[in-house]
Amino acid sequence: MFGGTFDPVHHGHLRSAVELSEALGLDRLHMIPAHVPPHREAPGVSSDQRLSMLRLGVEGAPGLVADDRELRREGPSYSVDTLASLREEYGPRARLIMMLGHDAFLSLHRWYQPQRLFELAHLVVVDRPDHEDELPQAVRALVEGREARSGDELMQSPRGGWLRLALPSRLAISATHIRQCLLEERSVRYLLPLSVIEHIQMQGLYSGLRHCAVQRR
Ligand code: ATP
Repeated sequence: MFGGTFDPVHHGHLRSAVELSEALGLDRLHMIPAHVPPHREAPGVSSDQRLSMLRLGVEGAPGLVADDRELRREGPSYSVDTLASLREEYGPRARLIMMLGHDAFLSLHRWYQPQRLFELAHLVVVDRPDHEDELPQAVRALVEGREARSGDELMQSPRGGWLRLALPSRLAISATHIRQCLLEERSVRYLLPLSVIEHIQMQGLYSGLRHCAVQRR
């Protein structure tokens, strides 16, 4: 499971998903847009639009699935609920992994029922070159005694461990930067798939931000 706002999906997400799948030999990677992200303000673009961009982004990539299960649930999109539904789908013996970037991991202690995440899955934390802060004590306490030394060690059990992975590409791309470029009418070419850029242009997405910025001044 790889959750996020994907506002919009970019090559940092997609390349990490491919490299993680290869590193751990995953059968499938569900990329799941948050419908109502509990820990941040509501995205400027609708869940349906973020899902459409994700679908374009994963098109033709073996094993990557644009999964709409959080859009079909009311209320905050808690990861424990999403993992519980994946666990139900794949059964108790499947090795289930939740992938997240280092920046998201830094606030794990503030997530809803963080200990329960480990009852449902392993966590794999991917390095981001643009986010290198130290882990807060509360997160270290939460994950204490669970760290695996390698992917092989992690994959020996279905849940309960965590692993830090430095993937080969480590792309310093963020959706915030992309939205800022769009706002300033600068090029976003090569930061995200061309099909997603074309969709943004055709649908006039993020241009609403431009109007808001102008009106607020
Ligand atoms: P924003 O800038 O709006 O916060 P973002 O680029 O961080 O967006 P999200 O959709 O918030 O993207 O992130 C979803 C998940 O993807 C998070 O776990 C995040 O850490 C991870 N992630 C985002 N960008 C990268 C990247 N370049 N490399 C690796 N992981 C990433």
